[in-house]
Amino acid sequence: MTSQTMRTAVLEGAGKVSLQDRPVPVPGPAEVLVEVTAVGTCGSDVHYYQHGRIGDFVVDAPLILGHEPAGRIVAAGPGATRHTIGRRVSIEPGRPDFTCPQCRAGRYNLCPGMRFFGTPPIDGAFCEYVTVHEQFAYPVPETLSDDAAALIEPLSVGIWACRKARVGPGSRVLVTGAGPIGLVCLQAALAFGATDVTVTDINPARLRLATQLGATTALDTRAEPLAGAGIDPDVLLECSGHPAAINQAIRVMTRAGRVVLVGMGGDEIILPLAHLQTHELELTGTFRYANTWPDAIALAASGRVDLDALVTGHYGLAEVELALTAGARDPGSVKVIVRPRQ
Ligand SMILES: [Zn+2]
Repeated sequence: MTSQTMRTAVLEGAGKVSLQDRPVPVPGPAEVLVEVTAVGTCGSDVHYYQHGRIGDFVVDAPLILGHEPAGRIVAAGPGATRHTIGRRVSIEPGRPDFTCPQCRAGRYNLCPGMRFFGTPPIDGAFCEYVTVHEQFAYPVPETLSDDAAALIEPLSVGIWACRKARVGPGSRVLVTGAGPIGLVCLQAALAFGATDVTVTDINPARLRLATQLGATTALDTRAEPLAGAGIDPDVLLECSGHPAAINQAIRVMTRAGRVVLVGMGGDEIILPLAHLQTHELELTGTFRYANTWPDAIALAASGRVDLDALVTGHYGLAEVELALTAGARDPGSVKVIVRPRQ
């Protein structure tokens, strides 16, 4: 069925990815073997490539990056019965322990025992085959492209942010940052019923895309300060990670609004606490997602969310370094996809 070895793109240290042959993984109990067809490239992959670490997660041994995979099931391990061979799936790339207090409370994204693709020391999906627990492989309809099946992962981040912010019918949402996560937050917010979604960035190409995807206002904050924009958001989905943008955005929030920090910026930033207090703003972080795949697949399959519109490039496994540097080279780049079989 498969050759005994597969090609992998391995991060050996900051700034160095090499193509290596490794054994094809063998699916364990309740696991399936998936031939990877598409993997989204994420800002965190880029960060690991550039710096060799994200906070406390340090790449101190060779690591395969990539945590936005889609593919086709080619084998099943002992007791894996949920799927037929050949089924196309989107993979949820984290495996919690299922038993800790956070998992038992339904917050498995906060599981301290989480094993997450492409996060040290767990290998990711910039390779030809991966194994995954059968419950974390979700069938996708034939109408959904391989790219869109891979981008169910970032869409899940947007859905989770909207759930945390309690976005609903009539919500007025401010999305700061029009990168891939800002653009899925925009689309998720619209799908959740928001009627007014303002997106800010300083990149004109990304702002144009935000408008195409349904933003009611796309604001270049270099030309027009947020404070003068005449908006009154009750939800902030912060996707820029930029301290000044976060500060300005919080200051335009309406009373009793909800602020959800999605983007990763510095470890410590200055916040306008007096404004938070006098306006009784709620503020929370988000970490990945839980129980989002079925909703994400339904939204993408129904056409409510357009994931293919985010894709600006495709690369093979031998070109992973090009994929990871696409954003730095080209301001028009939004989301690039690695196709291991290309
Ligand atoms: Zn757990």
